Amino acid sequence: MTFYRDTWAEVDLDAIHSNTKNLRGLLDENVQIMAVVKADGYGHKAVPTAEEALAAGAQWLGTALLDEAIALREAGITAPILVLGMIRPEDVVTAAANDIIVTAFQPWWLERAEKAAAASGQSFDYHIKIDSGMHRLGLKTNEEIDAFASRAASAEFGRAVGMFTHFAQADEQETSYVEEQTARFQEVADRLESVIGSIPVRHCANSAAAMRFPEAGFSLVRFGISMYGLTPSPSITADLPFALKPAFSLHSRITHVKTLEPGDTVSYGRTYTAESRERAATVPIGYADGWIRMHQGGDVLVNGQRCPIIGRICMDQMIIRVPEGIESGELVTLIGAQGSEYVSMEEAAARLDTINYEIPCVISARVPRLLQ
Ligand code: PLP
Repeated sequence: MTFYRDTWAEVDLDAIHSNTKNLRGLLDENVQIMAVVKADGYGHKAVPTAEEALAAGAQWLGTALLDEAIALREAGITAPILVLGMIRPEDVVTAAANDIIVTAFQPWWLERAEKAAAASGQSFDYHIKIDSGMHRLGLKTNEEIDAFASRAASAEFGRAVGMFTHFAQADEQETSYVEEQTARFQEVADRLESVIGSIPVRHCANSAAAMRFPEAGFSLVRFGISMYGLTPSPSITADLPFALKPAFSLHSRITHVKTLEPGDTVSYGRTYTAESRERAATVPIGYADGWIRMHQGGDVLVNGQRCPIIGRICMDQMIIRVPEGIESGELVTLIGAQGSEYVSMEEAAARLDTINYEIPCVISARVPRLLQ
């Protein structure tokens, strides 16, 4: 991969391998692992992370979009892929042509998908999404369940090959809602099977549930955030059964260093004023890279030391305060380790009042990902 800028992310594929292997060791051997690689592998690059997870014991891949699933097929990946989100019903033909399983939960959708499939003579496989309490997508009421089941039972082209639900609160200390959702999922799954017939695959667990309640894995678990080595939530990190290895780090190199005199101000809006003689260094990353203005005031690492981001972050650059002796070309680590210092994804997320999931996803495609 050729690029001409000194700002990049590194993706440690060994970390992905190790996280996946550790989960594999925790689960019963007949529980399969789906590596969730939506959003370009949570910003880590979907194809290499998918390949690494498959090599480490995952059997399935999950995406949010049909486009993402097709990209995996185009890269030559042959593992089963489930699109977890809704696709347009007419696009089942394209999904089937690419051997991609889709998600269904509305009778009108199945009706239109059946018509499209009939016109092309192509049958398609789908998993039924059950809304057991997240209230985002899926069959919720018994009336909806029965209407869907009767349409599914008479379908000629669509085959229900799985059923799944998604937990709303598996990453918190309080677990009673997980139990409630699991019970409702089982009830609905049994109700659907009683009309449609046997449906081989059941799944409900995300990373948090897979690691905390491995015995509730059903047929497979959907491993997302922790495959990338990130905790589903700081409140359960201490309870996790193995240490996660973060795969993503973010780096740049200083382009310019200058001395600020007392009273000099920095960047747009002059929000930072030097109080004494100090050194300021410019780093070529900005909000167009997903390194948004709210990171101002946070620390990055230079020469193993914490250095604060001073002044407003610009579109392509930002300015940090550095100790004496730092010159142009010096490595800057925005997320990751230098010596004994470490800026975690959680530290970066806390600055933005958000969760670790969001940070690698929003580091833009302009930042090359180097696979290690
Ligand atoms: N399953 C579904 C339906 C999802 O939407 C997601 C992610 O948001 C996952 C699984 C993976 O969850 P996690 O990244 O918490 O493991």
